Amino acid sequence: MNVFSTIDDLRQQRWVDPTSAWGLIPTMGYLHEGHLSLVRQARRENDWVAVSIFVNPIQFNNPDDLTHYPRNLEQDLALLRKEGVDVVWTPAPHEIYPPDYQTYIDVQKISQRLEGAARPGHFRGVTTIVAKLFNVFQPHRAYFGQKDAQQVVVIKQMVKDLNFNLKVIVCPTVREPDGLAMSSRNVRLSPAARQQATCLHRALTTAKSAFEMGRHRAAELHATMLAVVNQADLARVDYISVADPETLSELETIEQRALLSLAVWVDDVRLIDNIIVKK
Ligand code: AMP
Repeated sequence: MNVFSTIDDLRQQRWVDPTSAWGLIPTMGYLHEGHLSLVRQARRENDWVAVSIFVNPIQFNNPDDLTHYPRNLEQDLALLRKEGVDVVWTPAPHEIYPPDYQTYIDVQKISQRLEGAARPGHFRGVTTIVAKLFNVFQPHRAYFGQKDAQQVVVIKQMVKDLNFNLKVIVCPTVREPDGLAMSSRNVRLSPAARQQATCLHRALTTAKSAFEMGRHRAAELHATMLAVVNQADLARVDYISVADPETLSELETIEQRALLSLAVWVDDVRLIDNIIVKK
């Protein structure tokens, strides 16, 4: 496994074998089974598998969240080595954003809803770094998790609008045995908060059951999810949404499919989760 930090070294490696298929998995490190499921799928589908590890400062709207974001490069590299990854890129912030940096990518409407409304500037940071990673790696396939449902929608829109020549592959959310979606931020939960953090998944599955029993009005599903989260005394809802999975606009009634999603503060850690329901 080759580990690079500069753009020049990475580019040199990228073009050693120009005809082979490259798969890229962008990450912010502190890797868990969710990340590794993306790596494994990429390993099955490509000749070369590359992982980037970069805690992208411009996608954090909350400086405290950036400071406390967990990191462990040695452990990440050991995990990636075991998965047979070919290339890891761990650039320093100044390699990505030199002092005269001036260019940002802004996907408009769909970036302003849900996470975008709750975290102003977040998606501008995400699309800017992902566009830069696509330009540096020029992968054939790029792998993202359904865990960050809006991120997938926004990146697909960017790929289409800017004519990136690659395929976006979406992988299912990997969960802990009790349903909590794996996330690097989960380590910041206290034992009590960790127990209550299952309320996100419980809210989603309870709403899904209600939907399957014929409750198709968004307001009802919204209320169902809110009631479940409110049972956890350390949990505070940031938003709950029943939206069209493509446009992300809020629905009144579900005709075909809907993205149920929510963001919840559990103690001082903000968690997100989602599920798609369909008739
Ligand atoms: P992050 O390091 O949080 O930026 O995540 C890197 C990639 O891994 C993103 O595409 C995430 O959606 C994906 N990911 C994170 N957690 C999970 C999970 N529990 N299951 C599947 N994919 C995930």
